[in-house]
Order: sequence, then C-alpha cells, then structure tokens
Amino acid sequence: MQPVFRFAPSPNGHLHLGHAFSALINARMAAEKGGRFLIRIEDIDTSRCTDSLVADCLDDLAWLGLAWEEPVLRQSTQFARYRAAADDLAARGLAFRCTCTRGDIQKAAGENPPRDPDGAILYPGTCRHGGAGGGPHALRLDCRAGIATLSGPLEWRETGEGAEQSIPADPSIWGDVVLIRKDVPASYHLAVALDDAMQGVTHVVRGRDLHAATAIHRLLQSLLGLPAPVYHHHALILDEEGRKLSKSSLSTPLRQLRAEGVTAIEIRRHLGF
Ligand code: GLU
Repeated sequence: MQPVFRFAPSPNGHLHLGHAFSALINARMAAEKGGRFLIRIEDIDTSRCTDSLVADCLDDLAWLGLAWEEPVLRQSTQFARYRAAADDLAARGLAFRCTCTRGDIQKAAGENPPRDPDGAILYPGTCRHGGAGGGPHALRLDCRAGIATLSGPLEWRETGEGAEQSIPADPSIWGDVVLIRKDVPASYHLAVALDDAMQGVTHVVRGRDLHAATAIHRLLQSLLGLPAPVYHHHALILDEEGRKLSKSSLSTPLRQLRAEGVTAIEIRRHLGF
C-alpha cells in the first residue's frame, strides 16, 4: 500500500516558521517513502479561517516549494459527515447533548478541578445522563462509555522518538470531549479522526503539541471503526531558531519574512531542508 501523508493547517492566521517546518518534514518523509502528500485545510471555524487566509496559506506553501495532490480537502465542506458520525455515536449511547456554558462548567467543576492536557477543565459530567433540554447544545463523547466498549488496551505506533514504539493511549485524560460544538457543526478531534481515515492517511506527522491528543483520536477511531495510522510527533522548532532568521520569532508569519526579502531557500536551509 502506498503511504499517504498530510499536512493539516488551521488557517485562522498566517502560516509561520513552525508550520513551514511541519509541512517540510511531512513532504520529506512522503518523498523518502515513495508516498503521496496531501494538504488538508482544517477550517471548521469558518468565522476565523477566511477564504483569503486559506488562499494565502496555499500560496505560502507553494512559495516554499511544496507540491501536493489536488484537490485540497477543506473541512468546511464536510460538516454533514461529521454530524452523521456524531449522531451515530449518540444513537449508540456514546455521545450526549450538552447545554453547559463555560461558566456552568466552571461552577460545576468547583475549586482546582482536574484539567485536560490542553489545560481546559475536564467536563464534570453535568449533562451526561440526560440533563440537556432543547436549545443550543453541543454533542459530547461519553468517554467512559466509549472506553468500556474497548476489548483490549488502546495504543498507537509512534516513530517520533527514534525507533518505532507502541505508546499506551489513555483517552480518559480528555474526558467527555466535544464532538459537535455549539457554534460549529464539528470539532477538531472528530474531524481529524474521520478525515485521516477518509483520505487513507497512513502516516500522521505533526508537532509534539498534539502527542497527547492522539489518545482521544485513537478512541474515536476505535469507536467509529476507522484504521489507525502510524504517528510521528516531531519536536517543535525552538523560538531561538526563529529569531536567528531575520530577527523573527517562531510566530513571525512567512509572509512577513517574504516581505523582508528572506527567500524560500533560506527558510528551507535554516529549518534543515
Ligand atoms: N489543524 C491542526 C493544527 O493546525 C493540526 C491537525 C493535525 O495535524 O492533526 O494545529
């Protein structure tokens, strides 16, 4: 089977050096393995990911010298699929409606509540057993019920730390994650699990900041009957490295470096490509 790689930016701002690094490492690994290389635009938040930011993102990637398969999948065109998968989980008793506001969650969770790896308060379970009435609601995964369906330990194959190893996945650290947001008919975790499978992605190469998220992605894959890709979480390039280039920081947009006269070749070389 031909390997499939993808770089999946969320263009809610302009791409910066950190994105360039991740895109370049994906493209290099795809080339080394004789694989396909896709770009997926993760623009479920259509109020922040505007058409012009999406166009600029693709323009920056082409300027960097990257080539990818067309058509580029935009997640904003896929809401019906995300909804259908979430509804399926709800019909199986694995997801529930939740009307809680951020304030409700804070209040119910009390002082010093447990937090997920992103630092958000773990959902205290308020609506888990049928609390929610009508009106605006999110759909949340019933994480405990999901874990209870597993027939064995959950793990993933990781190649980002040297030799391939098996990493135990503990999705309970995320709790009842949102599958369908109140304001957006999708969520990052659900969309990424569904699209990696739909696009036949065999190798997920992304920054170490998403290492912990893999546990909940593995649970969703298991619940939805989706295959598990191999994961490669690369180190995030250090801010220091950004600064050396044109006094920029890691979050300096590529566009700005371009405007200052930095060339794509200089950026690639600087990042080790
Ligand atoms: N869209 C996500 C981000 O820009 C990355 C998703 C992924 O690689 O799984 O942080």
